[in-house]
Amino acid sequence: NINMYYELLYLNGHVFAVLLVHRDVTREYELDQLKSEFVNTVSHELRTPLSSVYGLTELMLTKQLSPEKQHKYLTTIYEETKRLTSLINNFLDLQRMESGRKVYEIICVDIEKIIYKVLDFNKINMENHEVSYQFQDKPLLVMGDEDSLTQIMMNLVSNAIKYSPKGGKIQISAWKEGEYRAISIKDEGLGIPADSLNQLFSKFYRVDNSDRRQIGGTGLGLSIVKEIVTSHKGDIRVSSVYGEGSTFTIRLPIGVNLDEEDLLLRA
Ligand code: ADP
Repeated sequence: NINMYYELLYLNGHVFAVLLVHRDVTREYELDQLKSEFVNTVSHELRTPLSSVYGLTELMLTKQLSPEKQHKYLTTIYEETKRLTSLINNFLDLQRMESGRKVYEIICVDIEKIIYKVLDFNKINMENHEVSYQFQDKPLLVMGDEDSLTQIMMNLVSNAIKYSPKGGKIQISAWKEGEYRAISIKDEGLGIPADSLNQLFSKFYRVDNSDRRQIGGTGLGLSIVKEIVTSHKGDIRVSSVYGEGSTFTIRLPIGVNLDEEDLLLRA
């Protein structure tokens, strides 16, 4: 896309030069396209839960409803409000990360502790899930920002629970791969269709199959995981068989406990 126009340069009120400006605006055009696509998606994502909250509160204010109906509507309002809050928080988090404004405090962290913390937080949702562990080379030290690592594990574990049937098995493993520590979360849930795999980490992308249309989400969880892992100089991969289950594996630089290393050097 080439944009051409004249620009007149004035001196003391008189034109003294004519400039022919010849500009390649392809990049700007692409950015504009991206921005408007983004605004469309966001406003759609915000409008849907908002209109249901609006409609239900209006109904509750204007109609005499049975306690059961009231409870049902309030539950929906509560769920939708929760979804909106997490959508906005996730969205802002991602913006901060992408614009480079997010500050990570990289320290040596034992990710096993983070895993237990995340499972404890999810315990109400996973009464029916069986979790097993296979940890090699303990302690599971990695270099990372503790809150961000918690966010990664939280998103991956809650997806494993959300997209698995009750009673589904979840296996969390960790092992060394050269300079990296690999951590995988394997479930026996719905799995991911092969043609969705390459879009899985894109913003707002959700698999739109009938097997999961009822499951709530924002499509931002995996984009956040990818963004954090990449900023930590790690990576993420996924393997899945549709209908059988999925395995997400992240790799993070192995943690070195600087204090301990210091002591060893001095000894
Ligand atoms: P959300 O769960 O909010 O939709 P994510 O970015 O976390 O967004 O995930 C994107 C999509 O990937 C989901 O809509 C879901 O269909 C699919 N997905 C993610 N994790 C799993 C999993 N463990 N098993 C099956 N499908 C998954």
